[in-house]
Amino acid sequence: RGASIRGTFDGTAATRDGHDIDLVANVADPAEAVAAAEAGARGVGLFRTEFCFLGRGEEPTVAEQVEAYRAVLARFGGRRVVVRTLDAGADKPLRFLTPDHEANPALGVRGIRTAVDHPDVLDRQLEAIALAARAESAEVWVMAPMVSTADETSEFVAACAAHDLTTAGVMIETPAAAIQARWLLADAAFASLGTNDLTQYTMAADRDLAGVAALSTPWQPAVLDLVRVACEGGTVHGRPVGVCGEAAADPLLAPVLVGLGVTSLSMTPRALAGVADALSQVTLEQCRALAASALDKPTARAARAAVRDSRRGFR
Ligand code: PEP
Ligand code: MG
Repeated sequence: RGASIRGTFDGTAATRDGHDIDLVANVADPAEAVAAAEAGARGVGLFRTEFCFLGRGEEPTVAEQVEAYRAVLARFGGRRVVVRTLDAGADKPLRFLTPDHEANPALGVRGIRTAVDHPDVLDRQLEAIALAARAESAEVWVMAPMVSTADETSEFVAACAAHDLTTAGVMIETPAAAIQARWLLADAAFASLGTNDLTQYTMAADRDLAGVAALSTPWQPAVLDLVRVACEGGTVHGRPVGVCGEAAADPLLAPVLVGLGVTSLSMTPRALAGVADALSQVTLEQCRALAASALDKPTARAARAAVRDSRRGFR
């Protein structure tokens, strides 16, 4: 199962003792959807919809959005595609949506926060997603980026329900969302950890700034502990909690994430085979032991070294 000896991916993954892990792809446009399907991905854990909006002076029409989303959904033959609503703001400002001149744009009006002043833009996007899902008979789950509170969650879930999008979830990208996951997941059907932003906001270190790169790693025990807390919040309600940040694509970290309670990993398609191979070499109990040893370290470097050394011992 999982990876073959030629390093290709057959669409399934499991630990050595047969515990299934959903391995799916991140895609950002129709071309990436083609690449993901060719790499063997049977579904999408993060469809970033920004491509449809960026570089435009005005909002795309519902019809334009439907066409763009259908081009991605069509590649997955009715299988699950997790569509993320527009994550504008911060480094991706949009003239018709995000405020000018924010002093700290990464802490400003981005992601779901744009829906406070512009609920109509979210509403039209949800309408387009629902129409595209129906036209392609796709299993579409919808999730909101940059969620921090239970109120944002329940309002998003209600907005989705108005379009018959019944599987609505949230990204966990802020420490607040991770800490409050048990409340967010009372309403949300699932959660997906955006570890790129979760690391940025936990470490207070710009994810694109070379000068703070040493801080910006998901191996930071503070980040791993928030992953653990978020997964516990999912367990309370029996909800799946995945990872769709870069962390999911690291073959050494993937077993740790599974050991922390993560149920799906979504990544760039070329990483699928390597992560499936890494998971097939460890049992779930070993994943849990790796997670415990990483959490018990004071530094990112020590956490990574402990996992690397333990993995050698398992062979
Ligand atoms: C993340 O923050 O980890 C994530 C998956 O979202 P993006 O990289 O698009 O911000
Ligand atoms: Mg993010």
